Parts: sequence; C-alpha cells; structure tokens
Amino acid sequence: MKILAIGRNYVEHIEELNNEKPEEPVIFTKPDTALVRNNQPFFYPDFSNNIHYEVELVLRICKMGKNIHEKFAPTYFDAIGLGIDFTARDIQDKAKNKGLPWALAKGFDGSAPVSDFLPIGHFKNIYNIDFSLIVDNEIKQQGNSGLMIFNFNQIISYISRYITLRSGDLIFTGTPKGVGPVKIGNKLEGYIEDKKLLDIEIK
Ligand code: MG
Repeated sequence: MKILAIGRNYVEHIEELNNEKPEEPVIFTKPDTALVRNNQPFFYPDFSNNIHYEVELVLRICKMGKNIHEKFAPTYFDAIGLGIDFTARDIQDKAKNKGLPWALAKGFDGSAPVSDFLPIGHFKNIYNIDFSLIVDNEIKQQGNSGLMIFNFNQIISYISRYITLRSGDLIFTGTPKGVGPVKIGNKLEGYIEDKKLLDIEIK
C-alpha cells in the first residue's frame, strides 16, 4: 500500500503558514513505514526540534483505478478515518526555502498514525463531516470536509492521472487551521463528529 497526501487544502491553514493558494492540488507521498495503527505512541525523533501535528480526514481506497473521472471517484473509496500528518516543520521550512522536496519532513518513520475506519454508510453526508483535534484537553483544530478547496472526488481524480490507486492505499486530505508543535508528554485526541478515533501519546 501507499500513502498519498494533499497539502494546502483549507484556506485558513494556507493563511496561517503564509503559503499561496494552489491552482492545482499539492500532492506528496509518505512511505508505508510512516504508517502507525492502533493508537501506538509517537516517538519524538532526534533530527527535529519542531514536529507539528496536522489532523486530517483519511480516505481508504477500495479498488484499483487510473484516470478516474470525478463522477466515478465516490466508488473508489469505502471508508474514512482520521490521521495525523506529523511534519518536521523545521526540515520542511529549510526544504521550502530551497525549493527542495518534502520527503524527509513528511515521510519519516511513524509520521502517519491512522485511526480505525468508519464505512461510508456511517455518514449522513461525507461533504459535511466535522472533525477535531484536542491536545492536552484543549481544542486545537476543528475542520469540516465541506471547507476543502479540492474535495474527495477531485483529489482522487487528480492523483489517479499520475499514480495508479490500489485497494488499501490511503489518502490524507489536508489539515484545517490550528497546526502547532508537539512536545514529549502531550496527549493527542482526534474526533470525527463525536466519535473518538485517535488517542496518541507523544513519547
Ligand atoms: Mg497535512
């Protein structure tokens, strides 16, 4: 399986990092070694002093597809979960300044914890899903899938022009505003609507 992700998909998050609003989706990948399941702890790596949390809705791809038309994209994912796109912001800033890739800043081991998945049928309307992240009992991020610049179907269609999607692949769909640093000892709790799906300790 592979992990794909979109950056800069919520206007207010773009503004908080002083980025430009993209005309096309900004896509990056994380290797499968980034994936962490079952709320295992996140171990703060020694190569960064500025690891940020980014809570995101995650799509689970359920069949192989290439050049998928937006109209058919809804048949290519069967469940939605919650993930943290952990980012070494110091390494990413250095790369951005030099116009270099984000691979290490975004793809290091353990940088992609993903929750259990809720089947699509669980949701009344997947284009109106509230989600949130609480750090040490304080709400830090609140998002809604309706606020995405590029919606689920546009993301799937766009990626599949370049990269074949396969069953089991995961797509991180972007973070809302409120990203910030973690430190050892923090407890991160993630919710989709009122369902707690993530409960991660920083060690
Ligand atoms: Mg992100």
